[in-house]
Amino acid sequence: MEKVKMLTGFRPTGKLHLGHLHGNIMNMIKHQHEYENFFFLVDWHALSTEYQNPVNIKKNLLDCVIDLIALGVDPKLTHLYRQSDIPEITELTLYFSMITPLSWLERCPTYKEQINQLKSKDLSTLGFLSYPVIMAADILIVNANIVPVGEDQLPHLEITREIARRFNYLYGQYFNEPQELLSQSTRVPGTDGRKMSKSYGNAIYLTDDHETITKKVKMMITDPQRIKLKDPGHPEVCNVFTFYNIYKKQDIKNIEHRCRNADIGCTACKSELADIIYESLKDFQGRRQELEKDPQSIYKILEEGKNQVRKISKLTIKQVREKIGID
Ligand code: SF4
Repeated sequence: MEKVKMLTGFRPTGKLHLGHLHGNIMNMIKHQHEYENFFFLVDWHALSTEYQNPVNIKKNLLDCVIDLIALGVDPKLTHLYRQSDIPEITELTLYFSMITPLSWLERCPTYKEQINQLKSKDLSTLGFLSYPVIMAADILIVNANIVPVGEDQLPHLEITREIARRFNYLYGQYFNEPQELLSQSTRVPGTDGRKMSKSYGNAIYLTDDHETITKKVKMMITDPQRIKLKDPGHPEVCNVFTFYNIYKKQDIKNIEHRCRNADIGCTACKSELADIIYESLKDFQGRRQELEKDPQSIYKILEEGKNQVRKISKLTIKQVREKIGID
């Protein structure tokens, strides 16, 4: 029996951060034995926001693959590849562009949110607007069944399903309607409380050393009503507490209690959190340093991934052309 296909993409716009790790990487690593995995680096997507300065995309891509393998992605269980190595994705994007109403893209909440948040970049481009169409092609080129996503990505996945449905309606049943695999801690805040993102300058990177993590955690917003050490805290409004909820869930009642009773000051509470985050990354950082010494072996893994996936993507395009009637 064919294995269920799980697919997820990573933007090589910089080193991975905690938002990526808890958003979906841990989820997909946990499930990598159960599925046929397609993990790929979305360098074309990176261009949608970095088109004015694409010089770092290749270096970032290598960093991202090293991060993934050091975190536990097993290339023997996973097709690990680069989006731009699969030209059939562009052809499928073209077909999908023909059948996707503009209104589906314009109403997408992440489109509006990013235009507002990334004001320093001119994102009024066709490529940025059509991001969900390219994403649909990424997913459907291998007819993936499930996609690990954070809650913010759900509208994109819904557009993928709508495109699949529309294609099937127009040309006959062909594509799956992929389902989400929601991560348990889907939204990791950045140090400023917004979604963690490199673009917002609020990320804690997986490669940050202890000192850097400590500095970043110190900057986090806490309970504004807690001015003196003996003032009782309100953890529900504290960014630091959100992280404890991710890292120390089993102990969260005690952490909440000591905050509400002012048994601990915010400085000590933050310092403890920084230690916990660093400890959780220490082994990964050691493995990463080893992998960095041999970039050729990483490129070889990507080459193998490309060869495996192109067998599937070529067949998809052949059958899609037949369905549309332009073969
Ligand atoms: S004690 Fe900790 S959880 Fe409570 S407000 Fe301060 S930093 Fe936040």
